[in-house]
Amino acid sequence: MRIVYADSNATTRVAPEVMEEMLPYYGEFYGNPSSMHFFGGHVGRKIKDAREKVAASIGARPEEIIFTSCGTESNNTAIRAAIVSNPDKKQIVTTRVEHPAVKNLCEDLAKRGYPVTFLPVDRQGRLDLDTLDASLSENTAIVSIMWANNESGVLFPIEQIAQKVKSKGIVFHTDAVQAVGKIPVDVTAVDVDMLSISGHKLHAPKGVAALYVKRGTKYSPLLIGGHQESGRRGGTENAASIIGFGKACELAGAHLDEMATRVCGLRDKLESEIQCRIPDTIVNGGGAIRLPNTTSIGFQYVEGESILLMLDQFGICASSGSACTSGSLEPSHVLRAMGVPFTSAHGSIRFSLDRYSTEEEIDFILEKLPPIISRLRRISPFWKGNPEP
Ligand code: PLP
Repeated sequence: MRIVYADSNATTRVAPEVMEEMLPYYGEFYGNPSSMHFFGGHVGRKIKDAREKVAASIGARPEEIIFTSCGTESNNTAIRAAIVSNPDKKQIVTTRVEHPAVKNLCEDLAKRGYPVTFLPVDRQGRLDLDTLDASLSENTAIVSIMWANNESGVLFPIEQIAQKVKSKGIVFHTDAVQAVGKIPVDVTAVDVDMLSISGHKLHAPKGVAALYVKRGTKYSPLLIGGHQESGRRGGTENAASIIGFGKACELAGAHLDEMATRVCGLRDKLESEIQCRIPDTIVNGGGAIRLPNTTSIGFQYVEGESILLMLDQFGICASSGSACTSGSLEPSHVLRAMGVPFTSAHGSIRFSLDRYSTEEEIDFILEKLPPIISRLRRISPFWKGNPEP
């Protein structure tokens, strides 16, 4: 069946160039990168190249990149590193709209006695910087605020946030998993101490990611073991994936302009045409600065899961809330934090595109979606004119 993929914030296809780069490291070059012999050393040198490419994609130095297994591990490592290496400070400041990889960890730490401040956002998903300022104290061990929201695509003003946090000498981590590869991210321009990236969001395979740790930042490993990653993350490297990740970062950099122009144009077309063709739709975070590839649209008085199932019959892949929260019928914590009305939060669908998205696919979605919404509204007990339940 034909697949129309509009769920790139959940994951992306592995780019063919990335696959090609990786394959020899599953086959003929299987040496351990830490081995003394030339055979293993060859893999080690390829990992070194990959580290340089990942670093270059965010303006970092290679030694500031630690390879991890996923964005979740990078986020966990950053937050735990800050609290372990600053034991006299306890407070964690974050937001109500973080990915579960930060949110659930912080909730767990709160249960273990760490005071956590979850900053609110407004109706457009924006953060109030004065509220952030007021939340910081002598006791703050780390501020962890995402760069780009995976559900709404809303971007936080990371440069200004970093300035505020760093002016108070506090450690600042940003979850940039949805930002890297979609918008320019440059750690020489933004004063972050730690930054998370994940491979599978930018056409590398699943199961490989990185944590940028600025030189001089106090650090403590999450995985204690061998000397890999200069003792900062034990475990034999996922060599092929790391090599692919390097290639993917290089390619992502080369496609950033296309993201800002062609892909953004497709997203804008999808969004505006949906609003034209389907009444009572709301773009969640539509008034904020957003990622170029993402739109989250609330279709009032219908159930998001029903929309997804009907889209699925045409091979259209989208998401209701984040991939990690689907499976639950509760509106996502992000939409709830934004105060999206219940009637529209329940019927919110996220479409997220990538550089493989085509205009023809957008037209296909635009053809199939309006009749689906009309059909669901005809049977919705909440839709205007329908009999009360
Ligand atoms: N942070 C954000 C903003 C995400 O969107 C995701 C994945 O959806 C993650 C972290 C987790 O990344 P991973 O799937 O690599 O663990």
